[in-house]
Amino acid sequence: MRGLIEFTNYCKNDCNYCGIRRSNKNADRYRLTEDQIIECCQVGFDLGYRTFVIQGGEDSTYKDDDLVRLIQRIKSEFPECALTLSIGEKPYESYQKYYDAGADRYLLRHETNTKELYEELHPDMSYEERIKCLKDLKEIGFQVGAGFMVGLPNQTNEDFVNDLMFLKELQPHMVGIGPFIPHQDTPMKDAGTGDLETTCKLLSIVRLLLPKVLLPATTALGSISPLGREQGLKAGANVVMPNLSPTNVRDKYLLYDGKICTGDEAAHCRGCIERRINNAGYSVDMSRGDWGQTP
Ligand code: SAH
Repeated sequence: MRGLIEFTNYCKNDCNYCGIRRSNKNADRYRLTEDQIIECCQVGFDLGYRTFVIQGGEDSTYKDDDLVRLIQRIKSEFPECALTLSIGEKPYESYQKYYDAGADRYLLRHETNTKELYEELHPDMSYEERIKCLKDLKEIGFQVGAGFMVGLPNQTNEDFVNDLMFLKELQPHMVGIGPFIPHQDTPMKDAGTGDLETTCKLLSIVRLLLPKVLLPATTALGSISPLGREQGLKAGANVVMPNLSPTNVRDKYLLYDGKICTGDEAAHCRGCIERRINNAGYSVDMSRGDWGQTP
């Protein structure tokens, strides 16, 4: 289990699928202060979490010095916890600073390994830069999470094969796979939603391809079907990331329509997810959950 803190929904990028893209004037923007983020960690710590994932849009208000201070503070106040960042593309030197400050892991989905599709989806971004970031993160020594969306418009099995071959080569520690879900205020609002069966099949293939990999049953999977995360676990997923964000900002971090758990307290999510994991036939492991350590 990892506790997820969505600390800002400001973003300088304009990804066509994402509800917090910079062009979405309807997004109600927020950013948490350092003290608020620490407070979320404390709530999570008291609920038993030993990994925190700090995720956000690419918000340039947080300078490297601010992030380094935040990382050092989390690591000094919660020394037994692992810290994961998911804050997008940065220069090598910035990633190095975060690592030196104590961050352990970094999630940056490659989104799709088909260059043409990648560039259609991401105005002003480059496929090569995304891949370079993942390689930089690995070289620096982070435990790295890549991953992709399922059910993007015009995505074919050939694209999935590209994703799988890329993952085999990169050998990431984690792979985040979730269905694409349209958001009403994006250019992709009329596109179809990714389906549960294809997503679960891909989870299973990745489990076979990278036997020890950390594989989340994602919130997006739980959002397209009431038992989506349970099905993901049965297909081979072994990580769940319940939300620790304060309830007053939860419904603002909307990457897609119909996101689950936007009104729930952290303690409620902690109990709900444990029941779901147990009902799927598994038990909860609240350790740091480093790669290779999963029981
Ligand atoms: N800014 C960070 C965090 C992105 S949000 C970064 O660039 O890594 C985390 C993930 O949500 C994205 O990597 C993307 O795969 C997923 N996501 C965004 N919009 C989505 C949508 N409409 N449907 C499903 N998943 C989406």
